[in-house]
Amino acid sequence: MKIISSPLELKEHLKNIKLSVGFVPTMGALHEGHISLIKKAKEQNEMVVVSIFLNPTQFLKGEDLEKYPKKDEADKKICELSGVDVLFFPNSCDIYGVDEVSILSPKVRGYVLEGQSRPGHFNGVLTVVMKLLNIVNPTRAYFGKKDAQQLNLISLMAKQLFMSVEIVPVDTVREKDGLALSSRNAYLSKDERVEALKISSSLRLSSAMVSKGVVDAKEIRAAMREVLAPLEIFYVEILDREFNRLERVEIGNTVILVEVKVATTRLLDNIWL
Ligand code: AMP
Repeated sequence: MKIISSPLELKEHLKNIKLSVGFVPTMGALHEGHISLIKKAKEQNEMVVVSIFLNPTQFLKGEDLEKYPKKDEADKKICELSGVDVLFFPNSCDIYGVDEVSILSPKVRGYVLEGQSRPGHFNGVLTVVMKLLNIVNPTRAYFGKKDAQQLNLISLMAKQLFMSVEIVPVDTVREKDGLALSSRNAYLSKDERVEALKISSSLRLSSAMVSKGVVDAKEIRAAMREVLAPLEIFYVEILDREFNRLERVEIGNTVILVEVKVATTRLLDNIWL
């Protein structure tokens, strides 16, 4: 596995390669969720590039940029063992200069749900994803369904800016007890982790209600809120795959999303029905 930190060196390295390239952008502290993205990229491409870059511009002032888990050496091992060909490991100054051009997320879709509680977060996400895609120029790029709004906005950017990359969604990987894997789970104490299970329980309940024929969004949201009750709830939403609000669940075209705070940790999860 080659490890490269300079964007220009990586561009040079990939310039004459005629193989299909799968790209997996991450912020590090890799877990099985990230590994499933890498596996899918390996299945579908002849070469796999992973980036590890803790992107400062997607963190708002006062958020957890400084304490975000860092596991550089373990991450390198995981990439090597997963068969990654190139690990892109830039520093912030390799990616950002001063007085920069940036990408702005859409004024509505970038400022609802997570974008409402973290205004401007998705500008940072889209800007860094655009930069990384321009550096790697992959055939396909892989993003987790767990960050459904991020996936939606990146797909929208690729489509609206007529980019050539194929954006590939990957299913959420969970612990056996249902908790969606996240680098931020490391912040949870034992008791908080138990509290966090209310998130996946509420989503399982929504799916069970739909299986029994309940499709009214208001009724499902209310039942989910009861399960989540003691937690600080940012939103419980039932949307179509284009992220428009639904009054009734449409099987095959629905995403149910939850974002809550467990103690000081913001956690999100969703289910696609
Ligand atoms: P992050 O390092 O948190 O920025 O995540 C990098 C990529 O991994 C994003 O596309 C995430 O959506 C994806 N990801 C994070 N957690 C999971 C998970 N539990 N299952 C699948 N993909 C995930």
